[in-house]
Amino acid sequence: MTVMVQPKALTNYKVRDFRMLIDGAWVETDGGKTLERVAPGHGVVVSRYQAGTRRDAERAIAAARRAFDDGHWPRMTGAERSNILLKAADLIAARAEELAHLDAVEAGKPISQVRGEIAGSVDIWRYAAALARDLHGESYNTLGEGTLGVVLREAIGVVSIITPWNFPFLIVGQKLPFALAAGCTTVVKPSELTSGSTLVLGEILTEAGVPAGVANIVTGTGPEVGAPLTTHPDVDMVSFTGSTGVGRLTMANAAQTLKKVSLELGGKNPQIVFPDANLDEFIDAAVFGGYFNAGECCNAGSRLILHRDVAEEATARIAELSKLVKVGDPLDPSTQVGAIITPQHLQKIAGYVLGAASGGARLAYGGDTVDFGLGQYMAPTILSQVTPEMAVAREEVFGPVLSVLTFETTEEAIQIANSIDYGLSAGVWSRDFDTCLTVGRRMRAGTVWMNTFMDGSPELPFGGYKQSGLGRELGRHAVEDYTETKTLNMHIGARTNWWMPR
Ligand code: NAD
Repeated sequence: MTVMVQPKALTNYKVRDFRMLIDGAWVETDGGKTLERVAPGHGVVVSRYQAGTRRDAERAIAAARRAFDDGHWPRMTGAERSNILLKAADLIAARAEELAHLDAVEAGKPISQVRGEIAGSVDIWRYAAALARDLHGESYNTLGEGTLGVVLREAIGVVSIITPWNFPFLIVGQKLPFALAAGCTTVVKPSELTSGSTLVLGEILTEAGVPAGVANIVTGTGPEVGAPLTTHPDVDMVSFTGSTGVGRLTMANAAQTLKKVSLELGGKNPQIVFPDANLDEFIDAAVFGGYFNAGECCNAGSRLILHRDVAEEATARIAELSKLVKVGDPLDPSTQVGAIITPQHLQKIAGYVLGAASGGARLAYGGDTVDFGLGQYMAPTILSQVTPEMAVAREEVFGPVLSVLTFETTEEAIQIANSIDYGLSAGVWSRDFDTCLTVGRRMRAGTVWMNTFMDGSPELPFGGYKQSGLGRELGRHAVEDYTETKTLNMHIGARTNWWMPR
């Protein structure tokens, strides 16, 4: 029986009415409409965002273009931009509780988890600030005595930043501070389900000293506001995080004007477990990797590929531990699994579980929705006897659902792990270092965890192989992603390579 934390009704909740930030001003949409956000854990309206239009998006792009072409931001020193980013980080830290509360109610995420995400964001903003001072090119004095080659790194220009709902504040922080550090100007479009914390970020950036037009925020739906951000000729780059389907569309749109694209997309991440693995450690990581953020996580370790010798024991132990996971009120600090983002999404998750069960998988635990009488919730769920061709084993379920597949030989495990279109992250569990490294090297994934899962830090690049994305975020090259290189090929002294005979 799942441990349930009954959500407290949000009585007398003060609904937040947000505007958008365009060219330094907080404005309403010219379309006159708003979007209401119903809290997934509480079933009541908590926020109202402007339902931005194509024209709003175009106004924001024009402001960003002006700020880039004529403004001070790209012409500042790295140190000046760094100091503003550091101030922003301090202000984020000062408003951490407000930001955490907003993400918890709008996304249904557990408050204790979001507090960690906001603290992590502060760290990332500081890391970006440090990189702002270290952005540099290269020089070559080895091209011949009279020649000096200098490779500059220049801000790429206007960047559209489009983000999803599952980590609203964390993900904008994996893009925006690095684009700003490079000297770019930006138009940010948060998910229409969770725009609040990004709009508060707009207030923070203004207070920190980011000039008008440098960080615009336009709210609204993907087709209305997102699409023009991917097609407009005045946009130089699109940095997108979201589903693989919309990522594909974004790339096709951007191709019309050959914009640079950076894509962080879906995942369906395997964890291979060998018989000599420390099962105590793995069981905890399996539960964390599967149910963290209610499984609404690109990095969810939802494909457990277990050696036949340990599969039964591990499945039984994960099922037992699943019963102890606390599901319920996102605002209760003891909650581990919060609400599911929308009622439609809950139906989709339940459909995957039903489909797997009718295809021969066994429900080892869970599978049911949890009815609190408000909001929508799902019990932690583990399916065994899943086979590699089942949809639940290949597609992103994006819910608290673990699938157990089994293997006999190492080759078989690697084959199953690499057999799908995604390649975001993966895990290997073995006490044998050689096994971990051999298998880790052969996994087609952007991150491979060994005897751990879902650890991260700003220093380590993150991104996907195959259809999980294009490019990397974080890491020491993160600012470079938002730059172009320019080659200065200079001649010193008298030219020796006259074309015409002298
Ligand atoms: P989504 O693709 O539906 O939406 C993402 C963003 O794109 C939203 O802001 C949305 O409004 C916008 N959008 C929708 N249609 C658009 C269009 N036609 N043009 C431009 N923008 C458009 O994704 P989601 O449901 O918000 O998020 C969940 C997905 O994000 C999952 O697939 C998850 O794996 C992925 N994700 C990936 C990472 C990563 O780092 N790889 C991180 C988090 C989430």
